[in-house]
Amino acid sequence: TQTLHIIGGGMAGSEAAWQAANMGVQVVIHEMRPKVETFAHRTGHLAEMVCSNSFRSDDDEQNAVGLLHWEMRAADGLIMAKADEHRLPAGGALAVDRDPFAESVTEALMAHPNVTVEYGEITELPSDGHWIIATGPLTSTSLGAAIQAETGADRLAFFDAIAPIVYAESIDMDVAWLQSRYDKGETEEERKAYLNCPMTKDQYEAFIDALLAADKTEFHEGETAGYFDGCLPIEVMAERGRETLRFGPMKPVGLTNVHKPDDKPYAVVQLRRDNALGTLYNIVGFQTKMKYGAQSEVFKMIPGLENASFARLGGIHRNTFINSPTLLDDQMRLKSRPNIRFAGQVTGVEGYVESAAMGLLAGRLAAAEILGTALETAPQNTAMGALVHHITGGAEAKTFQPMNVNFGLFQPVDGLKGGRRGRKDRYKAYTDRAKSDWQAWLDAQTKVDA
Ligand code: FAD
Repeated sequence: TQTLHIIGGGMAGSEAAWQAANMGVQVVIHEMRPKVETFAHRTGHLAEMVCSNSFRSDDDEQNAVGLLHWEMRAADGLIMAKADEHRLPAGGALAVDRDPFAESVTEALMAHPNVTVEYGEITELPSDGHWIIATGPLTSTSLGAAIQAETGADRLAFFDAIAPIVYAESIDMDVAWLQSRYDKGETEEERKAYLNCPMTKDQYEAFIDALLAADKTEFHEGETAGYFDGCLPIEVMAERGRETLRFGPMKPVGLTNVHKPDDKPYAVVQLRRDNALGTLYNIVGFQTKMKYGAQSEVFKMIPGLENASFARLGGIHRNTFINSPTLLDDQMRLKSRPNIRFAGQVTGVEGYVESAAMGLLAGRLAAAEILGTALETAPQNTAMGALVHHITGGAEAKTFQPMNVNFGLFQPVDGLKGGRRGRKDRYKAYTDRAKSDWQAWLDAQTKVDA
C-alpha cells in the first residue's frame, strides 16, 4: 500500500493524519520541532496553540466558526475531540487548556497503529509519492524557498497584510456608490467594481486624529523583518503626514458621488469586491496594526460604514501562505505537481479551527485518492466547503489574503435574500442547510467503505 506523508504536525497536519489513518492509510508525519524551532512555538508537541487558547464561538446555529466545529465533530475530528476533552469555561466560546490539549493530540497520533512521526525538517519539495504540506504560517525558510521556486516568487507571501472585510449588506448605499476610478473597465461590472465612501474635510481630519490616537499592536519578536513596499499600515501612512492618505489610498480623484454630483469629496475610501458572490468587500489599502476594538470604532467613522459589520478586521503578521486560487485545484492539489496537496494556514485560511478544518479535508481527499475511491471536495454550502471553495476559486486571486470562515462565504439561501427575514433566521437557514449537506457528504463515504 502507499503511504501518505505529511509535512508539519500542527493543527492541519495532525488532523489530516488522523483522518487518513482512520481510513486505513499508512501515514508519516514529518515535524521539524523540537529539532528546528519557530519564534512562536514553545514545545515539541504536535498541534501546539501558539497564541490565544480559544477556538472562538461554539455556537453552531448562529456562527460560522461554531458550524465548522460541528462539522469537524461529525467527521470524528481529533482536534475537536481533544479540544472538547480539555475545554475551559469561557461562556459561548470554546477555550482550551493548551498543554494537555497538545499532549493528548500527540499521544493519540503516536498510539495510532497507522501513524508514524519522524522528527526533522523537510527542505525540498518531494518529487513522488503522496504528500500534504501543512507547514503553517511559520513554514521553515528552506522549504519556503523550495515552494517559491516551484510556484514563482509572487505566489508565496511571507507576511499577510489584511485590510478589513465588510459584509456588503451592512454598507449604507444611500451614502456609498459603485464606481471604478475614471470609470475604467471593459464591462459594466468592471466599471462598478469599487464601492466609494466620500468624506468632507472635517470628516477626514477627524478620521486622521482617530487613526493617530488608536491603540495599536506591536509586531511579535521575529516579525520585525520590516514593512514591505505598498503594504504600510494606514496608521503609519497617517503618521508620515496628515495628507499622505489623501494622496494615497484615499485620493478623491476620478470619482463622482452619484448622490451629490456637485459636491466634490475631500477624500474617498474605496472598497473592492472580495469574493465572486459579491457579499464581501475589503477596504482598499487599509491594512492595519490597530487593535480590533479600535478598528471597529475608527472604521465606523467612515460615511456609509456607520453600521458596518465586519467579516474580519485588519492585521499584518508574519504569515507564509500561497496564492491558492491560482495554484490549487478543488482537491487541494498543487496543479503543477498533483502528488502534493496543501493544507492549513499555508493555504490562506486563518486560525486554528480553519487550519484544522483544511487538514481534515485534505487528509480525507488524499486518503481517498490512495485508496482509489474518488471523493468530491466538500459541498459548497457547508462551512468546510465555503472555505475551500473560497481559497481554491471564489476569492480574487490578485488580492488574495488569508480568510476566516464567515457567512459572507456562503451562497444565499433561496427566499431569504435581501434581508426579508432577520439575520438570525438567515444564519439558522445557512447552518441547517450546511449540516444536512455535510452529513450527506460523510454518509456517502461510509457507504463506499461498507
Ligand atoms: P502550525 O500549527 O503552525 O503547524 C505547522 C507545523 O509545521 C509546525 O509544527 C512547524 O514546526 C512545522 N514545520 C514548518 N516547516 C516545516 C518543515 N520544513 N519541515 C517539517 N515541519 C515543519 N490562530 C488563532 O486561531 N488564534 C491565535 O491567537 C493565533 N495566534 C497566532 C500567533 C502567531 C505568532 C502566529 C504565527 C499564528 C497565530 N495564529 C493564530 C495562526 C495559527 O498559527 C494557525 O491558526 C494554526 O496554528 C495554523 O495551523 P497549521 O497547522 O496550518 O500550522
